[in-house]
Amino acid sequence: MPLHFDNRFVAELPGDGNPDPRTRQVTGALWSPTAPTPVAAPRLLAVVPELARAIGFEPSDWASEDFARVFAGNAYFEGMQPYATAYGGHQFGHWAGQLGDGRAIALGEVVGADGQRHELQLKGAGRTPYSRHADGRAVLRSSLREFVCSEAMHALGVPTTRALCLVATGEDVVRDMFYDGHPKAEPGAIVCRVAPSFLRFGHYELPASRGDSTLLERLIDFTLARDYPQLTGSTEQRRGAWFIELCERTARLVAHWMRVGFVHGVMNTDNLSILGLTIDYGPYGWLEPYEPEWTPNTTDAQGRRYCFGRQPAIAQWNLEVLAGALATVMPDRTPLHEGIARFGAVFGSEHLAMTGAKLGIASASEDDLPLMREWFAVLGAAELDYLQAFRRLAQAPEADDPVALLAPASYAPARFAANASALRTWLEGYHARLVRDGRPAAERRAVMDAVNPLYAPRNWLAQQAIDAAERGDTGELDLLMDTLRDPYRAQPGRERFAALRPEWARERAGCSMLSCSS
Ligand code: AMP
Ligand code: MG
Repeated sequence: MPLHFDNRFVAELPGDGNPDPRTRQVTGALWSPTAPTPVAAPRLLAVVPELARAIGFEPSDWASEDFARVFAGNAYFEGMQPYATAYGGHQFGHWAGQLGDGRAIALGEVVGADGQRHELQLKGAGRTPYSRHADGRAVLRSSLREFVCSEAMHALGVPTTRALCLVATGEDVVRDMFYDGHPKAEPGAIVCRVAPSFLRFGHYELPASRGDSTLLERLIDFTLARDYPQLTGSTEQRRGAWFIELCERTARLVAHWMRVGFVHGVMNTDNLSILGLTIDYGPYGWLEPYEPEWTPNTTDAQGRRYCFGRQPAIAQWNLEVLAGALATVMPDRTPLHEGIARFGAVFGSEHLAMTGAKLGIASASEDDLPLMREWFAVLGAAELDYLQAFRRLAQAPEADDPVALLAPASYAPARFAANASALRTWLEGYHARLVRDGRPAAERRAVMDAVNPLYAPRNWLAQQAIDAAERGDTGELDLLMDTLRDPYRAQPGRERFAALRPEWARERAGCSMLSCSS
């Protein structure tokens, strides 16, 4: 299994040369050589065979004890060169200074069997110079959530970092889940994340905030060379084109989040990817009843800065902050303004096209906006489940009683009944619109079912896999992962994964609300 490492980040960019993991400010450098802290008893809980193969592993590799040891941080494969990177960020709208990989340690960049670059990164592998007052560890509950959701997003067709494997450490980690003075020991686990690049907006903000133009320019030009090699022209042209493309990618990313009902939960600038990927799965959640103000993050419950409906505006805010950092070395601001404008335009057209597809309207246009708005209004008023309502809607036009068909997707039968006549009226208008398209029903249903997921890793489903895994049983995790691999197709026998949130999950910690503390 010799993996082919090509560690460009550490080869081409300055590090601080200091392997001491104690907290410090790192200036004039983008990374620190940081080794994972070995753990007591590594045990492989889950692996993603398809990704493992793409990287260059074979089944005998992940069956070996070495695999669990390496991905727990207790050993290295040849060519691995561990490091933690320096970044800053705006958290909840405020500049937070140096943050950095406080509990993430990169192992290196593999050029995989698939010819692609895969950076391998352990999350929860111990302290780094960027850990500040925290322990650098992660609990099983949060690592499992990241493992499941990143692979689910990939299967949903949403740009995302991926997950190679999940390893139990055999050590406890103490966490005060709700910062309420009740710390508890929980089992620890490490997830190995995989992406072509883990660079975040905050990586560029930190040198800009310190007036270190030399370092910022080196980082930008490295990004162009490694992560955006397709861009051509002078350095200045490529920098401009890069920002514009990033804005477009971020717009498409958020349009996908809105399509599938994903709420990131903590869209700080250190959690936005320079490749337009979903990154950093923490207190994320999935819309259940359609409720644009919903946020899964307890830390955000007051301000609701990161609620479902504000994600497009926040993404743009983050891009504006990044533009401010880049402006320190890009005297011509034109591409920065153009990028922000492109964000709005691309989000608008993608969101319209995706909403059109979700409703099965062929070539949706601005003229369809009132029909769309009314649908979302009735979804909210009747407390309909964001995923199941669209799946049922696909069957509605041919149903004898389309209102009755939608009823089981509501969390509140009384509110559904109160809104039944509004729904009936809307369905009539909808039906008339479909007739204008003149598309065969089977074809329309196929379009709708291809963009409206039936299965998603909702918090209560992840919680069931967590509860079982904490008891030592990974069967539920395997079943969940297997179901989420094919999220648009009904899988007989797996109905419970497409059910509405059960009553027990309504107020349970980890299901209704989550904190960043994990
Ligand atoms: P997040 O809220 O996960 O985006 O993290 C914000 C910052 O806190 C990042 O610099 C993280 O690396 C750091 N951080 C979060 N949890 C821990 C932890 N348990 N140990 C060390 N650093 C952490
Ligand atoms: Mg983060």
